[in-house]
Amino acid sequence: MKKWLLGKNIQELQEMVAEYGLPSYTADQLARWLYANKVRDISQMTNLSKKVRETLAETWQVGGWDPIEERISEDGTKKYLFPTLSGSSGIEAVLIPENNRNTLCLSSQVGCKMGCAFCMTARMGFLGQLTAGEIVGQFLRIPETDLLTNVVYMGMGEPLDNWPQVQKSLEILTSPWGLGWSPGRITVSTAGILPVLDDFMNGTRAHLAISLHSPYDEERAQLMPLQKAYPLSSLIRTLRTYDFTGQRRLSFEYILFDGWNDTPGHAAAVLQLLRGLPCRVNLIRFHPIPDFSMSPSSEGAIQAFKDLLNRGGVFTTVRASRGLDILAACGMLSVQSKEKRNEAD
Ligand code: SF4
Repeated sequence: MKKWLLGKNIQELQEMVAEYGLPSYTADQLARWLYANKVRDISQMTNLSKKVRETLAETWQVGGWDPIEERISEDGTKKYLFPTLSGSSGIEAVLIPENNRNTLCLSSQVGCKMGCAFCMTARMGFLGQLTAGEIVGQFLRIPETDLLTNVVYMGMGEPLDNWPQVQKSLEILTSPWGLGWSPGRITVSTAGILPVLDDFMNGTRAHLAISLHSPYDEERAQLMPLQKAYPLSSLIRTLRTYDFTGQRRLSFEYILFDGWNDTPGHAAAVLQLLRGLPCRVNLIRFHPIPDFSMSPSSEGAIQAFKDLLNRGGVFTTVRASRGLDILAACGMLSVQSKEKRNEAD
């Protein structure tokens, strides 16, 4: 298969055109065709000579996958399944339309190493890294690409465990030679890979979301094995060294499980943990998955938890539960599709 141009940053395009003996402005032209104009074929790059296009096309293709499966929820949420270069399994991107926003939730890895107990992607294990081209390709190859207003890296995989490719995808999304998006429209969510946090904070201005799920170390470790390597206390201490008082937002994601982490005591401990840190909390209704014993908190418990945090001075919202009817839990569609393929084999 020919190599993908998609996913190359401007420096890589400059190096590439230099190898062909082409002028450096050809790199700018290529970037414009790939990202601003979203072409699918080198033959469409009409300000390059026919000879240059033919020469490039001997080795290169634009790249990017079209979705191979699409599910639309009653509430308008759309889940797309994409193939991957590694061929190991599909990956998902989820489009969430809400009022005047269209948010795309991107995947950063095929499967995941983090092993979170409540997550379907974790059950796949780790099957490979996505390239920057595959990450940006999810953005460029859905039919709604021109309608997108926000991007969240909250799909399959742990973004900071694939930082070089995720960083390049962020560079493509936010650079003037790329898609020219403001980093303020992008949020990267992490379970908290501490050694990479500094690279993230210095390498981009995108918002940061941290998976919290419990204010207590032992409890969090039951859900998130990563807690043992990078304890919450160290994570919060490190977060306090960064400046979140300006445009850049820090948020904590908190999935509520019935009777397990939704008590007033938990709310008080969350307030204690986050005291003085400029941040917000997003409460998430749990999407039940097979063979996991915890169940979603009741609406009453969710609202009470939210009120306690807001009254304690931490701005807290409840994320709308979207796409339940299309298996919106991260990794569900991919796992199902793989099972279907296995049955067919
Ligand atoms: S919740 Fe995120 S970090 Fe945890 S296993 Fe699932 S994809 Fe990985």
